[in-house]
Amino acid sequence: MKATERRAAWEALGVVEDWLAGGIRVVRAIPDFPDTSIVLPRPPSPEEGLAEIAREVEACRACALCEKRKRAVPGQGPSRPIAMVVGEGPGAEEDERGLPFVGPAGQLLDKMLAAIGLDRASNCYIANAVKCRPPQNRDPSPDEREACLPYLRRQIALLRPKAILCAGRVAAQSLLGATEGVGKLRGAWKSFEGTPVLVTYHPSALLRDDSYKRPAWEDLKMFRERITAEE
Ligand code: URA
Ligand code: SF4
Repeated sequence: MKATERRAAWEALGVVEDWLAGGIRVVRAIPDFPDTSIVLPRPPSPEEGLAEIAREVEACRACALCEKRKRAVPGQGPSRPIAMVVGEGPGAEEDERGLPFVGPAGQLLDKMLAAIGLDRASNCYIANAVKCRPPQNRDPSPDEREACLPYLRRQIALLRPKAILCAGRVAAQSLLGATEGVGKLRGAWKSFEGTPVLVTYHPSALLRDDSYKRPAWEDLKMFRERITAEE
């Protein structure tokens, strides 16, 4: 409403008030109404922010991984999730489709998440430490991780998940600056800029070695406890 319209409304209210009080018109000072028709800058909604990050990632040339990628993989999931998963980086299928965790490791990840009530369609956002596929699925270098971290940081700030499940050593290097392996890091809550982080084995490690399944299940239960706890 414009300031002039507010003044007119104020006057009209005064007429009504005077009429109700017996009909004697009273002169009132008119407040200095601010002109609310001026649009103040508004911070982007999570949806807008995520879409903007996806556009930037798709055009990004900040590290060498842009050269061999077919498609960048910004992330997938609801904009107000309960939880977030951070993996390492796209593999062959992810690179083809532009979506995270859609190959064999992704199918296992979906099952692990389902076991604790999470899915990417409704309550869990899935992203990676690097958004473009490292050739031959090599580990991303420290420089590549660092170049890509601002996107992940912005995603986390917009999504505000209750907790982050950090899948594998590379994701832990990005999020926590960790130098230890998953065996040392798992089992205790860590934090990324105030958001609780739990490190667990990468689903592709579970596909290679059955013995990781039991500890990974322990991690999932611990994760579930935190995200279902009252604030
Ligand atoms: N492995 C990952 O770390 N991320 C993916 O998106 C797929 C496989
Ligand atoms: Fe940019 Fe990240 Fe892709 Fe490197 S991996 S080109 S930093 S989006």
